[in-house]
Amino acid sequence: MEVYANVLLIAIPSFMILVLVEILYGVWKKNQTYTLMDTISSLSSGTTNLLKDLLGIGVIIITYPFLREQLSVITMEESALLYFIAFVCIDFASYWSHRLNHSINVFWNRHVVHHSSEEFNLACALRQSISDLIGFGALFLLPAAILGVPHNIITVLAPLHLFGQFWYHTRHIGKLGWIEYILVTPSQHRVHHAINPEYVDKNLAAIFSIWDRLFGTFQEELDDVPCVYGTLKPVRTWNPILINYQHLWGLTQDAWRAKNWGDKLKLWFMPTGWRPVDVALSFPRQGIDDIYALEKYAPVYSFKHKLTAVFHFICLNAFIYAFLSSFGTLSLFSQMAFALLIFTTIFGFTSLMDGHQWAFVFEVVRSLVGLLIFFHPSQVSIWSTDVVFASASTLYFALTFGMTVWMAKSLPQRSLIAS
Ligand SMILES: [Zn+2]
Ligand SMILES: [Zn+2]
Repeated sequence: MEVYANVLLIAIPSFMILVLVEILYGVWKKNQTYTLMDTISSLSSGTTNLLKDLLGIGVIIITYPFLREQLSVITMEESALLYFIAFVCIDFASYWSHRLNHSINVFWNRHVVHHSSEEFNLACALRQSISDLIGFGALFLLPAAILGVPHNIITVLAPLHLFGQFWYHTRHIGKLGWIEYILVTPSQHRVHHAINPEYVDKNLAAIFSIWDRLFGTFQEELDDVPCVYGTLKPVRTWNPILINYQHLWGLTQDAWRAKNWGDKLKLWFMPTGWRPVDVALSFPRQGIDDIYALEKYAPVYSFKHKLTAVFHFICLNAFIYAFLSSFGTLSLFSQMAFALLIFTTIFGFTSLMDGHQWAFVFEVVRSLVGLLIFFHPSQVSIWSTDVVFASASTLYFALTFGMTVWMAKSLPQRSLIAS
C-alpha cells in the first residue's frame, strides 16, 4: 500500500494538471464544461475512493491467486505477449463487471457515483465508488486464471488499465476515425454517460471497444441526439458519500415497504430501477418526463459560499498530501484519524453547499471537537513533537468554525435549488 500511496503522489497532481488544462482550454474555446461545485464534488469523490483503497476497507470474498491456483491449465513464460494477454483479460473482466453494475439493482449502487455528474469532463472520471465493499471481481478474471496469468502481472496492469480510462472523459474531442473501431473514445464514452433513451446502458467497454460490438451494446454518438448527462434518478447533492449509498437506501426502503416477501427478497436482484408494484403505487418516484427540459442541479452561490467551498477543497488537498507522503510512517491509529478527518471534511462542506441546516450544526460540532482534541492535555506530545501539524490543524478547525458561523445566515437556499 505504501507503493500505491507513492504512485498516487504522482498520479493525483497529474490528473489535477490535466483537469486544469481542460478548464483553460474551455476558457480559450469559450466552451466551458466545468462548474465549480460539480468539479469540487468530483475531485472529492476521487479522494474518498483512494482512501478506501489505501485503507483496504471492504471484504474480498474471492481472490485471483485462489482462482489461478485452482484453474490454471498452462504456464506461460513472462513476455510482452503475456502482458498483452493479461491486459485483454482485464479489459474483458472490466466489461462484464461494468455490465453487471448497470444491469442489476443492487450492483448499480456500486457504480452510480461514476454517473452522478450532470457534466462530462475529466474530473468526472475521478468519481469512483466507495460502496463496492464486497470484492468478487476476480470471478470475471476466469480466462486469465485458466491461462495461468501470474498475479503480479494483474497487480501491475490493473491500475494502468484504470488510469487508461481517464483521458476519454471530455467533450472537447470529436470522433477519431478508424480508432473508434479499436479503442473506447471520448465520443463513445459520452454516449455511455448519457441518459437519452438511445444511449442508456450502452458502450460499457473500458479500453477496447470490440467488446461492445461483439456483445451487442455498442451505440454510436448521433449528431441529432445531443448527450444529456447524469442518471435517470438525479442525485441532487454534491456529497459523494451520500451519492454512494442513495440507491441502496432507496432499495432498503422499498424492501421494507413491500408487502410481499418475494418482492422484498427479489428486488435487489431485479433489473436496475425495478420496484415492487405496490410500493411504486404507494410511494411513487418522479421520473424524468423530458430529459431535454431537465434542469441541472445548480444551487445559487454567493462569493461567501464559493470562498468556503474553495477553502475546504484546498485544505482537503493539503490533508491528502500530508497523508500520502507520510503514509508508510503512520501508525494504524494515525491513518484512521487522517481518514476520519478527510471523510468528515468532505461530508461536512459538501452538505453545507447543498444548503442543509443540519450541515451547519455538523460543521460547528466538527470544528469544536477538532479544537478540543488539539487543546486536550493528552495532546501535549503532539504539540511538542509536531508543532507544524498541530498548528495547521488548529488553524484549520478555527477557520472552519469561523467560516461556518460567518455563512450561517446565508446558507444556500434549498428553495433556490432546482428539484
Ligand atoms: Zn457505467
Ligand atoms: Zn466514465
